[in-house]
Amino acid sequence: MNVTTLQAMAEAWPAGMLLAVVLFGLAIGSFLNVVIVRVPEGRSLWHPRSACLGCSAQLAWHDNIPVLSFLWLRGRCRKCGMRISRRYPIVEAVTAAALAAAYLAFGPTGDFIVAAVLLAALVVALASPFVLGMPDARMARADRASFGWPGFLTSFSPSRARHPDFGQSIARP
Ligand SMILES: [Zn+2]
Repeated sequence: MNVTTLQAMAEAWPAGMLLAVVLFGLAIGSFLNVVIVRVPEGRSLWHPRSACLGCSAQLAWHDNIPVLSFLWLRGRCRKCGMRISRRYPIVEAVTAAALAAAYLAFGPTGDFIVAAVLLAALVVALASPFVLGMPDARMARADRASFGWPGFLTSFSPSRARHPDFGQSIARP
């Protein structure tokens, strides 16, 4: 699909194009989650399918829908109940919001494509430090006490960089 096609679609149905950009952003965010976890480990981006680190169950498609699956499952693996990192829905939502903002700024242009690629790289760069830490039981207890928006905000502080929620207690990919 070239830029001319995108411009024709945008003129015909502006809201539909913005919705398409958001859905595309969620899908890209989901892929970036795989990149963030697997590239540092030297694993393939394509095989195997995403699985729970707790019980090794492969995720069904309906357990892998960006943001929504996390909310449906209340942040836990369907089979073993292991906590899923909040980093996944956050990366997906931030990527979708960033691409939507870029689309609103540039419209269906080549500049939007360039901005989308740069923003995706920025999301990977910002999220990656949070996956390098090791699990720590003491930090896990601290996290349960700070669930909600305060916990979400403080999760970006350096002292939380080794937090298991941003570390290895993850159910996917
Ligand atoms: Zn599991």
